[in-house]
Amino acid sequence: MRSHYCGQLNETLVDQTVTLCGWVHRRRDHGGVIFLDMRDRDGIAQVVVDPDTAEAFANADRARSEFVLRIQGRVRLRPEGTQNPNMPTGMIEVLARDVDVLNTAATPPFQLDEHGKVGEEVRLKHRYIDLRRPEMIEKLRLRSRITHSVRAFLEGQGFLDIETPILTRATPEGARDYLVPSRTHAGNFFALPQSPQLFKQLLMVSGLDRYYQIARCFRDEDLRADRQPEFTQIDIEASFVDEDDIMAVTESMIRQLFRDVLAVELPEFPRMPYDEAMNRFGSDKPDLRIPLELTDVDDLMQRVDFKVFSGPAKADDGRVAALKVPGGATLSRKEIDEYTKFVGIYGAKGLAWIKVNERARGLEGLQSPIVKFMEDVVEELLDRLGAEDGDIIFFGADKARIVNEAIGALRVRLGEDLDLYTRRWAPLWVVDFPMFEDDGSARMQALHHPFTAPSCDVEALKANPIAALSRAYDMVLNGTELGGGSIRIHDPAMQRAVLEVLGIDEHEAREKFGFLLDALQYGAPPHGGLAFGLDRLVMLMSGARTIREVIAFPKTQSAACLMTDAPGEVSGEQLRELNIRLRQKAKAEVAGE
Ligand code: ASP
Repeated sequence: MRSHYCGQLNETLVDQTVTLCGWVHRRRDHGGVIFLDMRDRDGIAQVVVDPDTAEAFANADRARSEFVLRIQGRVRLRPEGTQNPNMPTGMIEVLARDVDVLNTAATPPFQLDEHGKVGEEVRLKHRYIDLRRPEMIEKLRLRSRITHSVRAFLEGQGFLDIETPILTRATPEGARDYLVPSRTHAGNFFALPQSPQLFKQLLMVSGLDRYYQIARCFRDEDLRADRQPEFTQIDIEASFVDEDDIMAVTESMIRQLFRDVLAVELPEFPRMPYDEAMNRFGSDKPDLRIPLELTDVDDLMQRVDFKVFSGPAKADDGRVAALKVPGGATLSRKEIDEYTKFVGIYGAKGLAWIKVNERARGLEGLQSPIVKFMEDVVEELLDRLGAEDGDIIFFGADKARIVNEAIGALRVRLGEDLDLYTRRWAPLWVVDFPMFEDDGSARMQALHHPFTAPSCDVEALKANPIAALSRAYDMVLNGTELGGGSIRIHDPAMQRAVLEVLGIDEHEAREKFGFLLDALQYGAPPHGGLAFGLDRLVMLMSGARTIREVIAFPKTQSAACLMTDAPGEVSGEQLRELNIRLRQKAKAEVAGE
């Protein structure tokens, strides 16, 4: 139907006849002449309709915002003085010969260029209109270019695109499953995959050697932060590899992607052990664009007569860390109060600070509610931190976990608020994760997942599991975990040992993933892989503010789709077929009681 997209028109087409198809972005009546801004996926072009072309004029006259038109006409240069250099097609216009109304449109729930005035709910409810906005189209286009680049790279490296089931059994990635009742097996349920983890390992046992998939994953988590119940992973697995091989190939993939899509040459990816990342940045996904670091001051604070500090400094699971912010002495009382509230979100009971106004004047030159408690150690402290006039020093003193989370988050917040970024892109690998974490519950938890290989042997693992490190790695970019993976266990004895540490007995293991345990006995090759979160990657590369902006049809924070109204009720008959009866409470809720 069309010869050109609106956005493709330029001076080289002057005097040519073109056919455009699209939507009326705006219509203006200029004393007898009608101007139509026609919009399609590629951009906007100005169309002029003269009363001389009577039929075209009549059609243009009845056209309204978002009507669907087909326009045929001649490209001409805009008259001197009416050109618009801010618009890609701003030098030309189309003088219409024919205007066909292909469809009318009801008044849209919001004007595209006024989307900022309506809440996100309205936009999500009418997502098909929201997606007409050029900004949204650009994000989806970028997403498509990203998956294209990734596919081209992986295919070039011999990876095969293989689909794995959506109706399956639970995959242990640590979240709640979405369940689908089976009609043909009364009382039984499928789980939607939290990741293709077990299937990709089985493909390695089958000898497929190199697998990838742009895979949809489902996790029924409480959607605190910016998460989606269904999201997409770039899922990768390979055989006869070690961690260096996987890191090398995936790092090349990301480098190539940034070249292809953003024309950016990413800097070196340093490797940082997990322990170091936690100590220096309070996070296992440090944002290395921010030049602030946590400094341990436990040894100094053990000596002070101030329980709030000396307690955690002496405790095995405690930590006292200082964060020096150059130039931060200008922060106001109000701002500091705001940061105190902020660290409270992470469980910190307060936020101690020292402003270094004039170091040469000793204690006199310091301003702080707590310095009086640490007079004996303050010079040593300032030396260790290399404190200078104009700095502020913040402190976290609590359980190490709380200090890391709170001061780690404060570090990122200050980086953002004070615009301390030293560079645009800061990638790294975090390695040497612990195998397990003791979260205080009865069972030890796998930090990655139970199929991750430890870097020690079975005896060492059993003797001291909490000290065992894993062969896992995370790729981090600008403080976001882009992806994570590991070398897997291919030895059944090691797999049994890990499950034992996790408190998963033989019976439970067989029931949950007996098929994997069986497969490991039939010649499983050494293998490993990694998965990238595609949505987050697109978000980072497009500069989007939320993950919802880079997903065509996202769900809300409460895991619902406002457009289709999913999840929805089902009929009694459907439930009967599935052998499901709702509990009274659920029924009452459904009936709105
Ligand atoms: N299955 C893992 C995840 O979804 C990724 C991997 O280990 O490859 O986090």
